[in-house]
Amino acid sequence: MTDKIKRFIDCNFPVKTCNLRCHYCYVTQNREFEKELPKFKYTPEHITKALSKERLGGVCNINICGEGETMLPPEIIPITKGLLENGHYVNLITNGTISKRFDELCEFPKELLSRLFIKFSFQFLELKRLHLLGTYVENVHKMQQAGASFSIEITPNDELIPYIEEIKQFSIDNFGALPHITVARNNMDKNLPILTNLSRTEYQKVWGQFNSEMFNYKMKCFNVKRKEFCYAGAWTAFLMMGSGELKQCYLGKTINSNIYENIDKPIDFNMPIGYKCPDAHCFNSHAWLCFGDIPEHQAPTYAEIRNRICNDGSEWLKPKIKNFFSTKLEESNKKISLLKKIQMKCQLQ
Ligand code: SF4
Ligand code: SF4
Repeated sequence: MTDKIKRFIDCNFPVKTCNLRCHYCYVTQNREFEKELPKFKYTPEHITKALSKERLGGVCNINICGEGETMLPPEIIPITKGLLENGHYVNLITNGTISKRFDELCEFPKELLSRLFIKFSFQFLELKRLHLLGTYVENVHKMQQAGASFSIEITPNDELIPYIEEIKQFSIDNFGALPHITVARNNMDKNLPILTNLSRTEYQKVWGQFNSEMFNYKMKCFNVKRKEFCYAGAWTAFLMMGSGELKQCYLGKTINSNIYENIDKPIDFNMPIGYKCPDAHCFNSHAWLCFGDIPEHQAPTYAEIRNRICNDGSEWLKPKIKNFFSTKLEESNKKISLLKKIQMKCQLQ
């Protein structure tokens, strides 16, 4: 039987440093790479117990992403293992260069690896500068052969444009398909515009040549203010993984200021953000909206956003993950009645 997603939990992993220096990144711009690795107040066992399947209400997709490089702190390994042992599906977002951690992940039992997805951010310029392209490819192949699923993703930036043909060839040769493309945002501006000097049309033309479902969908949503009823806070949540603070969404209200304090206490997932999305736009729509936080909004599945079919017919997503990533939140959650929605809307006026 296919597991269906109960919740999507996006976790901010408390690492601020990185081994790379991507020019467009705040870690580089603010010299955050000089920071030390985080000290965890709670043990990995405690964190994973707090996120049990029972407490979260079912099988979840838990996305773990550091502000710096996720795989640097050693705690990432037991946390990932504990969450997989709980029965969840785990996404790790990484620059793909910390080989020791991938060796450790490969030691996991096969069944756990079948529910592990790794998003390898493809920092081509940095990998080239540091002669790490070979290490990156090796780590992707290592995880693929171990039984995990993966996706290769580029953060487009204007400096990368002269290398597009080289990147395409490199990707076909080493990953069997072109990378996916995200849309970079300028965090310095409260409206979160696209980070580029190109016009929107030029940007679309340049990065659209990768035929990435992720890029095509994100461009449709980028800079569109969401006014529909959003279930973030009920079906999905944002967790500060170090402190245990659980929020409705990035700028949403706090659902629980510390879910680690009393792990026997149920979490009240009864605070949908509704019509009050506080963000300028849903810049990570490829996850929140593709899993279905706004059910009436037409979006591809998360599987379509992440997968690629390779030249040899193999796929980046293995069947178990592909099936799970093809499910939508409304399949295992109750929708709110129209009457209740209208009441919530009236309270806003
Ligand atoms: S790998 Fe990621 S966190 Fe590290 S510098 Fe590049 S963009 Fe920033
Ligand atoms: S529309 Fe997106 S950003 Fe806004 S609350 Fe919903 S999930 Fe969060």
